[in-house]
Amino acid sequence: MHSIRAALILFMSLAACASPAAIPTQQQSSPIAIATWPFGKIGTERAIEELQRGGTPIDAVEQGVRAVEKISPDRSVGLGGQPNAAGYVQLDACIMDGKTCGAGSVAGLEGIVHPISAARRVMEDTKHVMLVGEGARWFALSKGLESIDVSELPAKKQSWQVAAQKPATPTGHDTVTLLVLGKDGDLAGGCSTSGMAGKLPGRVGDSPILGAGLFVDNEVGAAGATGVGENVMRHCATFAVVERMRQGMHPQQACEATLHAIAKKDPRGYRLNLCLLALDKQGRVGAATTDEPFPYAVTAQGKSEVRTARPIAPR
Ligand code: ASP
Repeated sequence: MHSIRAALILFMSLAACASPAAIPTQQQSSPIAIATWPFGKIGTERAIEELQRGGTPIDAVEQGVRAVEKISPDRSVGLGGQPNAAGYVQLDACIMDGKTCGAGSVAGLEGIVHPISAARRVMEDTKHVMLVGEGARWFALSKGLESIDVSELPAKKQSWQVAAQKPATPTGHDTVTLLVLGKDGDLAGGCSTSGMAGKLPGRVGDSPILGAGLFVDNEVGAAGATGVGENVMRHCATFAVVERMRQGMHPQQACEATLHAIAKKDPRGYRLNLCLLALDKQGRVGAATTDEPFPYAVTAQGKSEVRTARPIAPR
């Protein structure tokens, strides 16, 4: 009896191996791009356009984030962003490619128009993952990236002593975090920000830190964060979201469960000023926030819209 069953199992597994249907095929999905905040829509639309032109998800992320980084005084992204306590704009960015497990990031970067491109150059042209400050600027210039002379920004300079007395404003910040799923099922993500307004010079937020402001796992999904970076970094929030998706949670559940878990142990409770965004391998979207409504952009299947996540109810 046992030998008949064993033979049957062997036959079935051989048949499964021989059958063309059993050969794993590459997943085909509809491309989708999602991003934090209404200004992220400029990025999601540019990202989808890039995919339609034949670009890879990482090309789409770079081009999408660049569109948002374009100097504009009404965003805290790029050189039009929020100055630090000494009156200088210091930028953070990172990029992650699910397909290659590649990643690059820059922090405290001054005078470079597109930090996301500097992050991509770190990923592709160096054996490192992260460059900071002067070194990051030198590297970006050596790659011919567009720059401005930082000494040409006197209007933004204030005296350190005066500015340092002002507390960093918890609301004077926003990050563009862009997550892309290409038609072959490959994921990529990137983020870029000037960080918290009035931050101490040299302060690095969550955005360039992998697993904090951004995490991409090509087998599972991608997650990004915006809000008070310190509250993201201390809890490796995006890594936690991706791990919850790996355990089978829908991206929405994964974002909410992560916020509840953080609020449960953090002395700040739900006053975290923290928003999470996630996209899984199936193209499903999740977004959750603690304190304030969180608008985010979604572009897919020829449609583009801004949706709003309401703050989660404390448990
Ligand atoms: N997370 C960013 C930072 O702390 C700011 C933001 O997204 O609002 O630098």
